[in-house]
Amino acid sequence: MNVIRFSDLCAQGKVAGQRVFIRADLNVPQDDAGRITEDTRVRASVPCIQAALDAGAAVMVTSHLGRPTEGAFKPEDSLAPVAERLAELLGRPVPLVANWVDGVDVAPGQVVLLENCRVNKGEKKNDEALAKKMAALCDIYVNDAFGTAHRAEATTYGIAQFAKIASAGPLLAAEIDAITKALAHPARPLVAIVAGSKVSTKLTILKALAEKVDQLIVGGGIANTFMLASGLSIGKSLAEPDLLDQAKAVIEAMRARGAAVPIPVDVVTAKTFAADAAATVKAADAVAEDDLILDIGPKTAEMLAAQLREAGTIVWNGPVGVFEFEAFSHGTEAIARAIAQSKAFSIAGGGDTLAAIAKYGIEKDVGYISTGGGAFLEILEGKTLPAFEILSRRAS
Ligand code: ADP
Ligand code: MG
Repeated sequence: MNVIRFSDLCAQGKVAGQRVFIRADLNVPQDDAGRITEDTRVRASVPCIQAALDAGAAVMVTSHLGRPTEGAFKPEDSLAPVAERLAELLGRPVPLVANWVDGVDVAPGQVVLLENCRVNKGEKKNDEALAKKMAALCDIYVNDAFGTAHRAEATTYGIAQFAKIASAGPLLAAEIDAITKALAHPARPLVAIVAGSKVSTKLTILKALAEKVDQLIVGGGIANTFMLASGLSIGKSLAEPDLLDQAKAVIEAMRARGAAVPIPVDVVTAKTFAADAAATVKAADAVAEDDLILDIGPKTAEMLAAQLREAGTIVWNGPVGVFEFEAFSHGTEAIARAIAQSKAFSIAGGGDTLAAIAKYGIEKDVGYISTGGGAFLEILEGKTLPAFEILSRRAS
């Protein structure tokens, strides 16, 4: 995807003395006292801000935080804790500016944080008048917030339409590059793992990937529905029988392309959904009426691991079992380790998938870990994200 990269503008000397507006994602979790409990997003935003400062820009940064009511600022909506953390990380003062839409006082070499952008009336609906006012604040707009790239809001879309220059920050550019490498120009075979709890939440992803991938590995509750579709009994396992036809259509679409949806050959079952439930490995065709399938079995895990080791590109979303329970975590661990060992370029995303990656400590061995939950899933669905669309339009 062709977009203007902020790093290129910096390298070309086009940023010195310019007013730069950075839309970051600083939506951090906080405790009841408002303290930041996890600051990954603040730390991740530093390279873009630092690059703008180093290039001699007058820097404005904003983000949303939580879900405030537009037009009604409340103290708990404030980015004040973020300003404080950012100041520590940058080693310089970061003044927080409220009511900033009509004008911001900032000099080259300085950075200010503009208060929670979702407090502005018209932000969510991408109001044109608001977007134009914000665009007028700057010479260069930088979107570095992948987590909101699937939403067309005033700070993620409208401002990009009207700013003199609209560019992608380093975080957004890295996401674009990884996604292009994995899905637009993948090294083959391209293997996707789509797992997790429900087919219904990922049906569009399954259908979109069925058009692209060489192997579509299903796992978790999603695999249960696919097992049903292949005529296997799954007992009391989590499944969506009303989506059987959809599952069959995915299997058929893959088969027609000479690709495959591997169905588990063995599973790990329990009689109750509990951390201390006894785990029993069974052949896929030996599941009892009162069984719950909570993980893929060791043979299946080994078969899938072998396919992952041979892959050219791997896309991973969703744990293949109830990995929160130790006895049912081995399938997900085997998949995680196989991805880590594979020479394939791998890209992974999704809330629980990131938790699994952290649990098995394979962060460094995954080619790219996407930070944007909803945005990542929409890319897998084959959608063009609004933020990408407008940036690429502004680049041509
Ligand atoms: P992600 O957040 O990575 O997109 P999901 O939210 O779709 O993933 O799915 C993760 C959840 O699916 C986990 O909480 C896991 O326990 C659950 N899960 C996985 N396999 C099963 C299964 N066989 N039965 C019930 N729940 C499952
Ligand atoms: Mg989840």
